[in-house]
Parts: sequence; structure tokens; C-alpha cells
Amino acid sequence: MRILVTGGAGFIGSHLCDALLAAGHEVIALDNLITGSTDNIAHLAGNPRFRFIRHDVTEYIFIGGRVDFVMHLASPASPVDYMTYPIQTLKVGALGTHKALGLAREKGAGFLLASTSEVYGDPLVHPQPETYWGNVNPVGPRGVYDEAKRVAEAMVFAYMRYHGMKTRVARIFNTYGPRMRADDGRVVPTFINQALRGEPITVFGDGSQTRSFCYVSDTVAGLVRLMESDCPGPVNIGNPDEMTVLRFAEVISEIIGSRAGIVHRDLPMDDPKIRRPDITMARRELGWEPVVPLEKGLGRTIEYFREKICC
Ligand code: NAD
Ligand code: UDP
Repeated sequence: MRILVTGGAGFIGSHLCDALLAAGHEVIALDNLITGSTDNIAHLAGNPRFRFIRHDVTEYIFIGGRVDFVMHLASPASPVDYMTYPIQTLKVGALGTHKALGLAREKGAGFLLASTSEVYGDPLVHPQPETYWGNVNPVGPRGVYDEAKRVAEAMVFAYMRYHGMKTRVARIFNTYGPRMRADDGRVVPTFINQALRGEPITVFGDGSQTRSFCYVSDTVAGLVRLMESDCPGPVNIGNPDEMTVLRFAEVISEIIGSRAGIVHRDLPMDDPKIRRPDITMARRELGWEPVVPLEKGLGRTIEYFREKICC
């Protein structure tokens, strides 16, 4: 297929480009580099089946020739990023999704939206199944991201119902791995880089809030399975292996051998207290589940950041 990946120079998007190319597809990556970097796709330069276009997806998208599938990942994704770019985040979720859907419709292409566990907000149901409608504060600091993704999901389903398009919605849970930015503020790169630099690890609140971490190759495999399936979703893509943030800080300290300890900082407003995907649907509909254990995924991610610090 000839596949357009919006957000293709980002963390997950660049790994998705790699996987699609390895499967024999032709890939066009579209990105305005607001939170991504061409470093993530530099290794693909010269590949005749890969092309990069620097473009803001909230503006009209023109792609010459055939497009068979649009994988729409463009959006700031870390809380620090989306609070730094609140208007851009709202615009890319609403206007960007509208433009990307319009292109897919024009080309007769399939469409996949990278949505998020944040549509569940600070959840009152645990673990979170796709049938849960969520607990989101629309006017809180995280509302710019949560509501942008919720409107994006609504738009995808409107295009599916009104225009009869073949669409998919993936609700991605916390994903980590090489090519995250060391300064994106997310817990995995932050803790690893603090430990590698011999600085104390900053745990927000008492650290009793939970997250479930999925290695990027597992997330990408889930997205590709969803693209290839007949399942419109939404489908949770994540790892159900849940732990507290405090325990995660201890694990990182132990693996890296840091002796700098842990310091506590204020818990950000509306920080979800619990998060774990119910992946029954992904197992049943996609035959997918994560296979990379945390220690292995963390080992690869730590190596990546160690090299970045050294060289
Ligand atoms: P990222 O910031 O590394 O990648 C996002 C990419 O989108 C960046 O390269 C950025 O420059 C690009 N982008 C943003 N706005 C754009 C615009 N208007 N036009 C063109 N490009 C634009 O983040 P990521 O972690 O790789 O996330 C990718 C997608 O997956 C996002 O849609 C995010 O919401 C979703 N997601 C990620 C996670 C996670 O844990 N990483 C969890 C849930 C959902
Ligand atoms: N967190 C933390 N210290 C940090 C960064 C994050 O304790 O330096 C916590 C944060 O409060 C949240 C969890 O780690 O409870 C995951 O945060 P992240 O920004 O990675 O993403 P989220 O899952 O909140 O979208």
C-alpha cells in the first residue's frame, strides 16, 4: 500500500514508518516538527519507498497520486508538550483530523486515528474497557488534549457513518522506547535521564498513581494489526502490566544503579490516579497483545539515552 503517516517524524510515528517500510509498503511521512524531529527519520533518507513532507496538517493537505491508507498520529502527546502548545493541540485534534479525513475520503483511503487513554480522563472504572465514556475535565489543563482527541474520535465516526469510510480508532496507552525526547517531560525519559545523570528522581505527589507501560514495538504492532483488520474500534492498545509511579522510580533507580534517591514534587492538576487498559477487545479482534517485558523494553530505552548523553 501507499500509506500516509501524519506525525511521522515523532516518537511512535517514526517507528510506525519503519514497520510499514519493513512490511513492503510505500510511506509518506507528514510532520510540522512541532514536537518531532527529522533525527527520528534520518536513517530513512535515500530509501526510494520513503518520502518526508514538512507540513502542518491543520492546513489543506495535498498529496499527488494514490493514497491507500492514512495513519493519523499528528499531535503533541506529552502533558508538558500539550500544555506548552494548547491551541495547536486543540487545532490538530479538530482541524487536523478534519483535513486528514478529507484527504482519505478524496483518495478512497482507509483511515486510522491514534487516539489515547486520556479520553477516559481520571477514570472511575478500572481497568478501562472501550465501553467506558470517561471522566474528563473539559476546562482543566489536560482538557486541551483530552477534548481534542474526543472530538477527533467523534469526527472519525461521523465520517464513517455519513460517508461510509473504512475507519479505525486506536486508544493508545502510555508507550515508551527509543526516540522519545529526553526533555518531553513524560515519566519514562524523565526518570531515565535523571538517573543516568545521577540526579534525584522527581516523583509527583506521593507516587501512588498508577500507569501501565507498553514498549513501542508492541504499540506499533497493534496499530498495524488494527489497520489490517475490519474492526472500527475504538480499541485499547496498551500493556495491562500496571505499577505505581513510585515503584517505577525504584525500578529505574535499581536498573541504572543510581544512588541519588527520590524527591517528591506537587502532583499536577487532574493527573489521572489510575490507568490500565482492558485489552480483551484487542486480543479477540486483532489477535494482539504486548510481548516485550518491561525490563527488556527499559534496557533498550536506557541504552538509547545513555548513547545520547555520551555522544
Ligand atoms: P510525538 O510528539 O513524538 O509525535 C507527534 C508528532 O506529530 C510530532 O512529530 C509532531 O511534530 C507532529 N505534529 C504535531 N502537530 C502537528 C501538525 N499540526 N501537523 C503536522 N505534524 C504535527 O508524540 P508520540 O508519543 O509519538 O505520539 C504520537 C501519537 O500517538 C499522538 O497522536 C498521541 O496523541 C498518540 N498517543 C501517544 C501515546 C504515548 O504514550 N506515546 C499515548 C496515547 C496516544
Ligand atoms: N510523573 C512524575 N514525575 C515526572 C514526570 C511524570 O511523577 O517527572 C508522573 C505524572 O504525574 C503521572 C505519571 O508520572 O502520574 C505519568 O506521567 P506522563 O507525563 O508520562 O504521562 P501521563 O500518563 O500522565 O499522560
